Amino acid sequence: MVRNQNTSQNTQKIIGANRVFVCDEAFSVIKNGGVVYESMPKEQMAQRAGDSMDFTESNGSKILAVGEYENLVRAYPHANREFYDDGVLLPSLVNAHIHFEFSNNTTSFMYGDFGRWLDSVIAKRDDVLSNITKSVQEAIATQLVNGVGLVGAISSYGYDLEALSNSGLRVVYFSEAMGSNPSVIDALFGDFKTRLEQSEAHKSAIFTPAVALHSPYSLHNIYAKYVLQEAKKLKAPVSAHFLESAHEREWLLSGSGYFYDFFAKTFAVPNPKPFYSIEGFLEQFIGLENVLLTHCLFASESELQTMFQNSHTIVTCPRSNRLLNNTYLPHLQMGGAKNLMLNIALGTDGKSSNADVSLLEEMRAMLFAYPHTDLSTLAQQILQSATHNGARALGVKSGILQKDYNADMAVFKIPKITQSAQEALQFILHAKKATRLIINGKKLV
Ligand SMILES: [Zn+2]
Repeated sequence: MVRNQNTSQNTQKIIGANRVFVCDEAFSVIKNGGVVYESMPKEQMAQRAGDSMDFTESNGSKILAVGEYENLVRAYPHANREFYDDGVLLPSLVNAHIHFEFSNNTTSFMYGDFGRWLDSVIAKRDDVLSNITKSVQEAIATQLVNGVGLVGAISSYGYDLEALSNSGLRVVYFSEAMGSNPSVIDALFGDFKTRLEQSEAHKSAIFTPAVALHSPYSLHNIYAKYVLQEAKKLKAPVSAHFLESAHEREWLLSGSGYFYDFFAKTFAVPNPKPFYSIEGFLEQFIGLENVLLTHCLFASESELQTMFQNSHTIVTCPRSNRLLNNTYLPHLQMGGAKNLMLNIALGTDGKSSNADVSLLEEMRAMLFAYPHTDLSTLAQQILQSATHNGARALGVKSGILQKDYNADMAVFKIPKITQSAQEALQFILHAKKATRLIINGKKLV
């Protein structure tokens, strides 16, 4: 039952539930807890967004207090309030890596080996990318139903820009650069700049334009240099796919294997050579904040150490990794590993390498991918990856229920959650759709 009491047009609101997952480092759970936040009227939001060119974190609705529900009601007696029995309130989830433009795909691509998959993408890409409007909208709806409030959207073409900027989601929008032919770098960079500028026109308190390098095998090093200069100007996060396949590692180490044939045969490049060493690719990111390296399945201990020392995040996409490369990010690299505390975020990747873009399904898959890890501990790590690790990676002050953080929250009904001592685990097993989703203080579900 939802107890709802409307008082006035007050912009302070209290939302509460039987269990509140703060999603801090300690994974604190508050029984019969709640959050006070400011809910911005629409006119005020428009005014704040249009008022100035300064889109800092101060623009937007914030959390005012977190604690036991009854105490909050006493402290804020005039606040509008709602409470969910059998409910879990937590920060809205973060899908740190998703390709909306590939949402049309169902059965077009081949799985089981990265090379076979990439060949099938090259052959069928044009079909999959035509008439994507409806499927992009469906993928956005999937995020909202899943209680996702923040996405790291990788955009290869800019086809998803309008839909995402109107979605109500908090978006870090990565315009992606890809291309290896040195004779067309200027044209490619021109197209990239146009897409980036178009995304910058949508910049707001909840929309951040950013830059992605596709991968070390697909991007010429000179082109990458130009693109990273843009990233530095933007002071926004940077994303790249990195060491996703054993083929990629072989190519970067020895210039042989699948990618040699890929360039020599598919693209008729005479005597192809890799653009980077593994270390050389990583060196490009030194000094940049908020670097997200996606997959990293075949990174060595010393490469992981370099990523850790430079505060990079690994974004893991378990189902995509199983389908394309038959493996998962090794347990050592999970955020809870004692000897390496890399920040690990979670993403669904696109429908080009997944059955759907449901982050709840991704969390469940991840739970079953690490059978040698303590189940309750793993469940908490997964929830942290899907909340504050993702937000931290994307440079957004969301993902923890704490004063001054963004008012981005979700409520899920989990029957009899009060009877469990393993709340995080039960949440991952049973959360099917958000009952309430609040982004920037605004109710979207
Ligand atoms: Zn990807």
